[in-house]
Amino acid sequence: MPSFDPHANIDPSEIRKFEAMANRWWDTNSEFKPLHDINPLRLHYIQQHAPLDGKRVLDVGCGGGILSESMAAAGADVTGIDMGSAPLEIAELHLLESGLTVDYQQITAEELAQSAPAAFDVVTCMEMLEHVPDPSSVIQACHDLVKPGGHVFFSTLNRNPKSYLFAILGAEYLLNLLPKGTHDYAQFIRPAELARWCRTAGLQTTHQSGMTYHPLTRRYRLNPCDLEVNYLVATTRAN
Ligand code: SAH
Repeated sequence: MPSFDPHANIDPSEIRKFEAMANRWWDTNSEFKPLHDINPLRLHYIQQHAPLDGKRVLDVGCGGGILSESMAAAGADVTGIDMGSAPLEIAELHLLESGLTVDYQQITAEELAQSAPAAFDVVTCMEMLEHVPDPSSVIQACHDLVKPGGHVFFSTLNRNPKSYLFAILGAEYLLNLLPKGTHDYAQFIRPAELARWCRTAGLQTTHQSGMTYHPLTRRYRLNPCDLEVNYLVATTRAN
């Protein structure tokens, strides 16, 4: 386990958690099943708001590369960044299997924003904000990394009794979808908080949608009327 810059916006225990599970990242029956299940939905959502073909895309907190690869397959020129080395190794290895190209780098969004400002047409940051000490700093970096007029997408977990029930008790304790301790309820983010951080950073929220899970059909679907648990947000950087 590498040591991190103590001033960086990183929670080492969060990175360690993903390091320990990384070898199962592409196993669709593992704890990463929910990410595999929601991936077609979020890819579709992104493409509805920002066509990806030929675009320069940055995937912040890319992990083992589930979303990064699907965006590369959709024709984007994708850079994926994460601070976990094991997830990045798995992501690199998986490229051999898929034959796709993604540029993976171990760097924080804040650091990359210094060296590559306004370098991307689209920035995605999915299921990552709830794992960092200061989400607003990542949001600011995403703004700085996208070109004026470009699109930034976030997804995270809402914070309310229902999300506690579904995302912690349901997913971690009842259905065993996720290992216990995957999520910390206090780190969940209300849509109004996310919108406020976006506004402060210079990103305008253009659309929000829930991703709802039905325990009986075991399927997720996009639902703009229900942001209660998992939700996606589309934003644009002002010119
Ligand atoms: N975005 C991917 C993976 C989500 S899991 C997907 O949705 O498919 C969360 C990821 O965020 C993990 O890979 C973890 O290593 C990464 N992460 C946590 N804190 C981070 C930070 N400060 N900087 C970059 N990546 C971070």
